[in-house]
Amino acid sequence: MLTGIARFAAQAPRLAAKRQVEYFALPARSVLNRVRAGLPFDWAINPYRGCEFGCKYCYARYTHEFLELDPVRGFEDRIFAKRGAAEVLRRELRRLPPGETIAIGTATDPYQPAERRYGATRALLEVFSSVRGYRLAITTKSDLIVRDAALLREVARANILHVRMTVTTMDDALARAMEPRAPRPDLRIAAVRELARAGIRVGVYASPVLPVLNDAEASLDAVARAAADAGAEAFGGHVVFLMPAALRVFRPFLAEHRPELVQRYEKRFQANAYLRGTYPEAIQRRVRRIRARYGLTGSPVEYAPDLSPPEQLVLFP
Ligand code: SF4
Repeated sequence: MLTGIARFAAQAPRLAAKRQVEYFALPARSVLNRVRAGLPFDWAINPYRGCEFGCKYCYARYTHEFLELDPVRGFEDRIFAKRGAAEVLRRELRRLPPGETIAIGTATDPYQPAERRYGATRALLEVFSSVRGYRLAITTKSDLIVRDAALLREVARANILHVRMTVTTMDDALARAMEPRAPRPDLRIAAVRELARAGIRVGVYASPVLPVLNDAEASLDAVARAAADAGAEAFGGHVVFLMPAALRVFRPFLAEHRPELVQRYEKRFQANAYLRGTYPEAIQRRVRRIRARYGLTGSPVEYAPDLSPPEQLVLFP
């Protein structure tokens, strides 16, 4: 018998179907999710469950297991849009003190194709445009975010907002194979340029860094160069981790595109989802070197929003 969120998922009314993708409405019971200690943010918001972009390395596939759905095909083809999320967020923010750090898009892309139809992300941003003093980060691979540039600007006037655009490679063919339904790398960089022009703080992140596939100095350098040229402030990249649900998708991808790597990846990731030791350390040194080459920072640049946070308004009315 299904319980909790899995029961809601099973009963969710179907909104529409496109190609092989089906969309469902999932009532939002809570929007702000507390994250475990050690992460660089306090709260996570995911306006959707599942992600149509279908990246072969996606770590978030396991989240569909909570819905008792298939983390492989189901994660990409059964997308749940959170219904009523804006009202729930408005209520939750009344109890959340300013200064908390909130990440939007930790287990789904908030600007995946579903956003064009259902606008769950935009509705949440409208709520954030009416509050002050939070620290927000939005992670996406989609140029659809440009649609919301004016709204993001409003949010950034009263909160500290950073957009984190993920660009794993500038190689179209590799991106198409690894991230089959995500926008092309050049479109993501063009979106960075437009956001930066609109005065929004943007960083570009080449995560995940995958051994042999996109970890070469030249590959990471190309992403950083394009990022700096487009007006990004920050650049980073972290080594991939492959949980069992992700490995189920990544292994056939490798077998099709880079069969000579299958055994090497299996040897490294079968026992442990994380790589430790010299490899990640070497990648971090490489990323730091490249970052310095283009004058980019490692973390988002702090700035004072135009509108003071509420505490200051009280102190200096
Ligand atoms: S865009 Fe992000 S959430 Fe979506 S499939 Fe790719 S890695 Fe997963």
